[in-house]
Amino acid sequence: MKKRGVAVFGSTGSIGRSALEVINHLQHEVQLVAIAAQQSVNQICAQASRYQPETIIVSDPEAAQKVKDRLGRKYQVLAGIDALVPIAADPKIDIVIMAISGTAGLNATLTALSSGKTVALATKEILVSYGEIVARTARRFQGKILPIDSELAALHQCLAGQEIKSIRRLILTASGGPFWQNGPPKNATIDSVLKHPTWKMGKKITVDSATLMNKGLEVIETVKLFGIPPDKVATVIHPESVVHALAEFVDGSILAQLSRPDMRLPIQYCLTYPRRVPSLVAPLNLTEIKSLHFFPPDTRRFPCLQLAYEALRYGATAPCVLNAANQVAVKAFLNRKIAFELIPDIIEKTLKEHMKKKKRARLSLSILQQAERRATDYALKLINLVSGE
Ligand code: MG
Repeated sequence: MKKRGVAVFGSTGSIGRSALEVINHLQHEVQLVAIAAQQSVNQICAQASRYQPETIIVSDPEAAQKVKDRLGRKYQVLAGIDALVPIAADPKIDIVIMAISGTAGLNATLTALSSGKTVALATKEILVSYGEIVARTARRFQGKILPIDSELAALHQCLAGQEIKSIRRLILTASGGPFWQNGPPKNATIDSVLKHPTWKMGKKITVDSATLMNKGLEVIETVKLFGIPPDKVATVIHPESVVHALAEFVDGSILAQLSRPDMRLPIQYCLTYPRRVPSLVAPLNLTEIKSLHFFPPDTRRFPCLQLAYEALRYGATAPCVLNAANQVAVKAFLNRKIAFELIPDIIEKTLKEHMKKKKRARLSLSILQQAERRATDYALKLINLVSGE
């Protein structure tokens, strides 16, 4: 069997590091061709010598020069985020793992899809903000999107071979983050927000998990990836993070996907799809777990989830605006510019401001990019007002 070539974009982040482990585990069938990261010189050099990709892309030019100096001529080292695009089109690559946070990897995603490749998508912002364009491009050029996000990967498995019209509801589970029981405390500190009870993840997504915006973004992803109306997507708090999602059908049957909360499993699912092979993840012992719990989410204490549904129902550019405002608000919280409880405020105000404008029926890449820029600027203005800058 010819080995399939893989590129890992965002290799030094939490998903990227797990992806490299999985690729190494599957080395008899996949070959790492390229890695891309932002600027962590030591980590990039260590990954290069451990996993031996042919090409290394470093988006920060200074860091790229340092990597080049350190690694010599053994590797092709490219500088700048734009270098992702030709690599995404490289015929040696069959699967692009997109794990760059935010929407910086959009062009590379579209390029890979329009070259008919598979994109294993971990970056939810790309689907949330640009889902229509991404899905359209995949359809047109026979590219394939496989979701790495564990809830979406679970749905992808539950829906295999099922007709869309037979779905009654899709249910996404949420761990609930650190505050689901009592609501977020007043002036929650960064440390308390970043203490996730079940998953080990990057900072942005861990904050999103604490506000429940992460689940909101996943509801939007589900609607855009599977073409399901928003009112057919539900969420439930499930603190054990063992059931990742469930699909309920019109006959009353529910299919669920269960596993340990370990991202190496959905990553492997995308790399070997539609086959299954032994993984690095230990099997689940049900008699050890004994019980699983499910609670309705409290949308009054966690308004972000509701805001995501509002953006979805409004449609057009609203999900893109919601995502942009959230990115700005979370960054401001992590930079100690705003309090945790202001995150939903900033998003709501930005969304309301956007909804005052004329609704765009036909979405294009430039219309969405313009909406993203405007929402970013508006949210930044709000933050500067409250932080007194
Ligand atoms: Mg998830």
